[in-house]
Amino acid sequence: APGPGRPALPPRAGCIMILHGRLKNWYVKESPMKRLRLTSAALALALFAACAPSSPEEYSATLLAMDTAMTLTAYGGQGEAALADAQDLILDLEGLLSTTDQNSELYALNQGEAVALSSSTREVLEEALALCQDTGGALDITIYPVVRAWGFTTGQYQVPDDDALSALLERVDYAQVQLTGDTLTLPEGVQIDLGAVAKGYTGDRLMELFRQAGAASAYVNLGGNVQVLGSSPDGDPWRIGIRDPEGEDYAAVVEVTDQAVVTSGAYERYFEQDGVRYGHIIDPSTGYPADSGLASVTIVSPSGTLADALSTALFVMGPDRAAEYWRGRDDFDFILIGKDGSITISEGIEDSFSFSGEQGSVAFEVVRR
Ligand code: FAD
Ligand code: MG
Repeated sequence: APGPGRPALPPRAGCIMILHGRLKNWYVKESPMKRLRLTSAALALALFAACAPSSPEEYSATLLAMDTAMTLTAYGGQGEAALADAQDLILDLEGLLSTTDQNSELYALNQGEAVALSSSTREVLEEALALCQDTGGALDITIYPVVRAWGFTTGQYQVPDDDALSALLERVDYAQVQLTGDTLTLPEGVQIDLGAVAKGYTGDRLMELFRQAGAASAYVNLGGNVQVLGSSPDGDPWRIGIRDPEGEDYAAVVEVTDQAVVTSGAYERYFEQDGVRYGHIIDPSTGYPADSGLASVTIVSPSGTLADALSTALFVMGPDRAAEYWRGRDDFDFILIGKDGSITISEGIEDSFSFSGEQGSVAFEVVRR
């Protein structure tokens, strides 16, 4: 109780606000008993945090942008102003990087116009092109003509015929993109799609913005791209749920601090024809939806751009090539969920990873260097 020399408790509303923020991230899916225990622990912790004099204020916003629902939450600092700036930043980046917005920089580039690139567009293109090369073209931002032929940009889905695909594939080659200074040149017919990397880049920019605004911690969910600043307000790592590709629930939880957690899969954007499911991630070597035995790929990395690019690229590579690729870098970890429900993770997240289900009921493997 408050007494001489002890701070008075803040108003009750403060407690509820932080409690709300804390529980939103409590994506735990384990045994009901454990869940109860964890939830009570979270409750106790949140109440404790909420009643401590230094507990930071929570600021939250949701918006629709880049064709997805986005949630932004920041704690402390100039949170309210930062959230307003964050929304402006997202809309600005969408205005530059959208393939369909006729006023965007990318649209002009794809029309073959000479464009003096903004620093944001140049930065995301530089990072994306480097990753196209590093992944040996598993990521290829010039895939756009093929993505369009399948109807993934319009929703008018169709299976293109092989001749049409072969002709389009001749235009798919990131090495044909010449980026010199702030000038980008696309050969006739070559078109760029940043759908596989732009949300990740947006996450990086948001973290930078929140950090500069003095936020103690923050998290954003950009339609499956989660990225966090610092740890959660109570000092614990953020607990991020990984969607079960076959259901509505969470298949696994990973605990992170200052990281992006980005998932790609074919379970949200796809269509079915004659009993075959066609997903939106294309294997640039065939022009067909990637069919590497994976249901989803999650990448954990300090870089949102890298995590987004590699979630797409490793989905194309499949489990064996993905593990080999991981061994050649030291800036990310992965969680692969197979179509058969099996789970494969890289060793860097072994201690911060847990999955639902009985022990032994799911094939589980840790890949090591
Ligand atoms: P990811 O795996 O990260 O990316 C998959 C997407 O990347 C595919 O949809 C395809 O576009 C592209 N792709 C497929 N294969 C490859 C490959 N091998 N290499 C490189 N890229 C590949 N959607 C709409 O329907 N309408 C919109 O107006 C719209 N506006 C957008 C504006 C912006 C700035 C951004 C970033 C996205 C927008 N989107 C829009 C969504 C976009 O079309 C993709 O569906 C979305 O970005 C896919 O993200 P993901 O995380 O689901 O998948
Ligand atoms: Mg991606």
